[in-house]
Amino acid sequence: MSRYIGPVCRLCRRETAASKTGEKIKLFLKGDRCLSKKCAVERRGTAPGQKTQGKASRQKVSEYGRQLREKQKMRRYYGVHETQFENYFREAARIPGQTGRTFLQLLERRLDNVVYRLNLATSRAQARQLVTHRHFRVNGRMVNIPSYVVKVGDVITISNRSKKSPVFESNFEVAKNRRAPEWLEWSDQDQSAKIVALPAREQIDTPVDEQLIVEYYSR
Ligand code: SF4
Repeated sequence: MSRYIGPVCRLCRRETAASKTGEKIKLFLKGDRCLSKKCAVERRGTAPGQKTQGKASRQKVSEYGRQLREKQKMRRYYGVHETQFENYFREAARIPGQTGRTFLQLLERRLDNVVYRLNLATSRAQARQLVTHRHFRVNGRMVNIPSYVVKVGDVITISNRSKKSPVFESNFEVAKNRRAPEWLEWSDQDQSAKIVALPAREQIDTPVDEQLIVEYYSR
């Protein structure tokens, strides 16, 4: 399946406009660049193809529609293809425990997401690119698969040749003022990170209701 290469702000506007609470929940698909004043949600606030907000908010959305939008929102947030996304769900359903929480944990544990959460990349898209360009090692072995799922105890390091590259130097500078989530332990000295626990739901700030997605796939 081909990757979406259009403007990501369109995806973000689509999901933000679908929010029935009226709250503008942005997906921040461009990472740090979303902090600029040019955010499309701020400028337009409507779904792509809609001229006014009024008509969209008057439309009645079915239960299926709500579940579908929530699923699309989460898929776009993590930048995962439909088939791969469904495979994560099937895997989560096989693991004992709450399927929705396990599903979220699997997505959070993707290597590209972990790199982003460690502030080593300015967006998930950049994190994905850095991983495919072979900048990271997991337990000493080079891994260039963004969907690689890390486990508790894994240690992520940056390749020696990459540490001095301009992109990492500027990302390190930005990262100094930010904190990684508690389930990741970052060492400034070695410039490495250890997975110390599985992410708890309250440590995952993904703005989705995973229960709706469980219902979507359980139809
Ligand atoms: Fe979404 Fe705004 Fe970022 Fe575009 S700039 S991805 S609309 S938050």
